[in-house]
Amino acid sequence: MSFRAPVRDLLFSLTEVAGLDRLIETGAWPDLDRDLAGAVLEHAGDLATDVLAPLNRQGDLNGAKYANGAVTAAPGFRDAYEAFAEGGWHGLAAETQYGGQGLPKALELAAFEMFHAANMAFGLCPMLTLAGIEALQAHGTERQNALYLPKLISGEWTGAMVLTEPQSGSDLGTLRTRAEPNGDGTYALHGQKIFITWGDHDCTDNIVHFVLARLPDAPAGVKGISLFLTSKFDVGDDGKLGGRNAFRPVGVEHKLGIHASPTCVMAYEGARAELVGELNQGLAHMFTMMNAARLAVGGEGVGIAERAYQHALAYALERRQGRSAWTGEASARIFDHPDVRRMLAVSKAKIEAARGVCLSTAVAAGLAEHAATEDERARWKRREDLFVPVAKAWSTDVGVEVSSLGVQVHGGMGFIEETGAAQHYRDARIAPIYEGTNGIQAVDLTGRKLSVGGGQAAHELVADIRADIAVMAGDPRLAPAVAKLTAGVDALEAATAWLLERKADRPADVLAGASAYLALTGDVAGGWMLAKGAQAAARGLTEGAGDPAWLNGKLNLLQVYADNVLAQA
Ligand SMILES: Cc1cc2nc3c(=O)[nH]c(=O)nc-3n(C[C@H](O)[C@H](O)[C@H](O)COP(=O)(O)OP(=O)(O)OC[C@H]3O[C@@H](n4cnc5c(N)ncnc54)[C@H](O)[C@@H]3O)c2cc1C
Repeated sequence: MSFRAPVRDLLFSLTEVAGLDRLIETGAWPDLDRDLAGAVLEHAGDLATDVLAPLNRQGDLNGAKYANGAVTAAPGFRDAYEAFAEGGWHGLAAETQYGGQGLPKALELAAFEMFHAANMAFGLCPMLTLAGIEALQAHGTERQNALYLPKLISGEWTGAMVLTEPQSGSDLGTLRTRAEPNGDGTYALHGQKIFITWGDHDCTDNIVHFVLARLPDAPAGVKGISLFLTSKFDVGDDGKLGGRNAFRPVGVEHKLGIHASPTCVMAYEGARAELVGELNQGLAHMFTMMNAARLAVGGEGVGIAERAYQHALAYALERRQGRSAWTGEASARIFDHPDVRRMLAVSKAKIEAARGVCLSTAVAAGLAEHAATEDERARWKRREDLFVPVAKAWSTDVGVEVSSLGVQVHGGMGFIEETGAAQHYRDARIAPIYEGTNGIQAVDLTGRKLSVGGGQAAHELVADIRADIAVMAGDPRLAPAVAKLTAGVDALEAATAWLLERKADRPADVLAGASAYLALTGDVAGGWMLAKGAQAAARGLTEGAGDPAWLNGKLNLLQVYADNVLAQA
């Protein structure tokens, strides 16, 4: 099934829902305007469609391979990687000083959604390199930045994030990898790490690992973890590559999905490494880029949902069974059965809702840095922090749900690998697990995020949605759906109060309700996003601007979501 890059929907979501204009107005990105954003997304869409999507199936079938101490990428991936790097996609939002294009992360997220949709296993490689770039931009020394950033930003080298150990997953305080001082300012890493995405491959000459480890005399627990940089080949002060460093892959995992993404077991046997940032601040340093990384995984969830939806829609328009409920035609397309249409419509609505939540989070992150006043920056930061766990967890749950619906639309053929629908479902399943499980996101939302200012961020969210509802309710085209959004906001407000009341003396009750609260927040925030889109579409229809059928589609999506999702909130 061919992939169609959803450039138009993405641009609409970025401009009309997430508020790209607010970023433009800050003046922090002098070249940024709607046209530039559109052009970037068009180019990204072409790469996704022409280069990455055609490799998705063969990547699933052949996978990355481990043999003789090295990993070989799936067939075709090396060439695709070259095209990706040549396009400058690693540097879209990176600092210009090191060769980046300095555009907002929101635009990067939108472009990457299409890369993940086209080929999720491939998209993980640059996604983790971006995390490394962020780590260095935030905590690297001038020397480290000068040596490593240009190569990572150009894509000449890739990055891997190396945290997990067999006994140390959600609870990183238990990690054991040792960093022994060499006496010359460098360290020797000893230990084993597991599940390291693109930890080894043959697409580039060098791979930079960002490793969490502890010094022999470090305090126990999370306060004794430091962040280190080590690379597959030594890097001289002139940037030239030297000898092979003392770490290696010892195998790749056999997994449910994303077969073309090598998930490596790595052994560090005295690997020469340097400290990034301050000693014993490794976890805090990781957290500075955690927001971006978690949001990126949310974008993966939206991408894989979009891909599965397109696949299911194409099948529904082709497969013929039974009589049309509307026309009575025999041997009708299954698209003509209301239940099939419901599955597709709910899928599309959830995709656009999750896309809106993710892109709004990225816009909030940009405004948290660049809004005009300190108060505004602080308010946007609270919104970003509140939305990140929701964007990550809710959107990846949408990815699983929509890809499952995609299998269902295919009927028995959905369960047969040949159609490819099953691959999306298998691929989607990892996103709720890595980068902090969705359970951990819910703990973060109801713990850290609700603790600040007595739930200030949640109260602000409720107030902002209510303010928009007050305006939207005056438009009869929006009013019926907006009434259901109001009921959703009422439920969110009540749930927030319930959690805040119990936070101090009944923490287990709060944790037991955490995932349900996150789901409710996502459902309501998603409805708000669709309502904003519908409001913009209604304006377009009134003004006679734009394609009426497409704009009416946005109004219909809100209604579908209100009836099928908000009605249950
Ligand atoms: C394909 C793949 C790629 C990966 N890529 C990387 C990578 O590149 N780098 C890297 O470092 N790691 C990577 N990981 C590891 C991934 O981040 C971890 O698997 C994840 O953080 C969960 O840790 P765990 O597997 O040990 O599960 P556990 O921590 O054992 O969790 C098991 C269950 O318990 C729940 N749980 C645990 N603690 C709590 C708590 N405090 N509150 C509530 N629930 C809790 C979890 O939500 C989960 O449902 C990858 C994993 C996979 C499978």
